[in-house]
Amino acid sequence: MNHFDVVVCGLGVMGCAALHELARRGQRVLGIERFTPGHDRGSSHGSTRIIRLSYFEHPSYVPLVRRAYALWQELEQASGQQLLYVTGVAEMGPPDGTLVAGTLAAARQHELRHEVLSDSELMHRYPAFRLPANFVGVVQPDGGYLAAERSVEALMTQARRAGASVRTGETIKAIEPHPGQVRIVTDSGVVEAGTVIVAAGAWLNSLLPDVTLPLRVTRQVMAWFTPIDPAPFAPGHFPVFLIESRHGMHYGFPPFGNGAVKVAKHHHANQTVDPENYDRTFNSDDEKLIRAAVADHLPSANGQILNAQTCLYTVTPDGDFIIDRVPEFPQVIVASPCSGHGFKFAPAIGEILADLATVGSTRHDISRFSLKRFCRSD
Ligand SMILES: Cc1cc2nc3c(=O)[nH]c(=O)nc-3n(C[C@H](O)[C@H](O)[C@H](O)COP(=O)(O)OP(=O)(O)OC[C@H]3O[C@@H](n4cnc5c(N)ncnc54)[C@H](O)[C@@H]3O)c2cc1C
Repeated sequence: MNHFDVVVCGLGVMGCAALHELARRGQRVLGIERFTPGHDRGSSHGSTRIIRLSYFEHPSYVPLVRRAYALWQELEQASGQQLLYVTGVAEMGPPDGTLVAGTLAAARQHELRHEVLSDSELMHRYPAFRLPANFVGVVQPDGGYLAAERSVEALMTQARRAGASVRTGETIKAIEPHPGQVRIVTDSGVVEAGTVIVAAGAWLNSLLPDVTLPLRVTRQVMAWFTPIDPAPFAPGHFPVFLIESRHGMHYGFPPFGNGAVKVAKHHHANQTVDPENYDRTFNSDDEKLIRAAVADHLPSANGQILNAQTCLYTVTPDGDFIIDRVPEFPQVIVASPCSGHGFKFAPAIGEILADLATVGSTRHDISRFSLKRFCRSD
């Protein structure tokens, strides 16, 4: 069969979530992926992703992340495996910084459970941290992390179980909208669909050359530090954290699987790259950008680097997602929920994409993610 109700182009976490939701709704749906889902060339790999309810980026994300929590838990039940690890999240920095002030505003607006701790209270509760005297921390007990590759795999497995077709190792060469349908040309042939969802991550611009998408792809780096002293990182004693300091905004995770503490700098060097051709090795400049914060604020983790990986952010100018139908081609739906913070929302975004593909609208408020916002009105 080469005709589907919906074809999902790209099976990172977003494509898999859309595929799953569409299959659950009884749609004839096909997902096409160039590599193998869970691969390390896009944006959805690297062992863990933060999930947090209070949202420093903007309080309007809170209802969506609430829905995502419920759907991740449903997926855990359906797949019979743990995907979500609730460890608490500590967000630390100066009280008037982007991180602390933003998180507090969202927590207060949505009446979310949280505590505000001083620098010394934070260091008492979590002895691994070393913080300047003017720092405060917002601790959200519901925060934690998702097992990244396992989540992608669970979405994919459940999608197949619900009847989705999947083709991997197949590269999409062109997406051609025609009245009432779309032709998807791949290196193996042509597929037709009523609607196409383009969830191609860092490759979105190349798949939709006629659509103006103000997306920039940046190189990111994650590093796993072997603790000098593992005691403060014992299970149940160390939270997921974000810290805004003189070194920038860093984030990190309790050990997961390999005994090491994963730390990264949000946006890293903010270097624009071509996703087809960029340096995927870990160099000394990368190490400096991350280790500076570890040395100052997490000294007991400041041991040897066990592992490091690169990854890609696909960023919009305002840091909000793009999830919309293309005005000129409404049968084409664009999904770029990245800007470095999309993973946690994936099943809720799958729901939105399935709504747009099947009924043309969604009960979720996605006004913040529209393509219209990039159109000049003058
Ligand atoms: C280092 C890092 C840390 C992050 N931390 C967090 C976090 O803590 N919390 C959080 O919520 N979010 C986080 N994010 C963001 C989150 O991971 C992304 O928003 C999310 O993974 C984006 O998923 P995606 O499916 O859109 O993209 P991708 O995972 O890149 O998937 C796109 C897929 O499309 C495929 N594709 C592209 N072109 C073609 C083609 N021509 N033919 C066939 N297939 C194609 C690609 O191979 C790829 O598999 C982080 C991102 C990075 C890089």
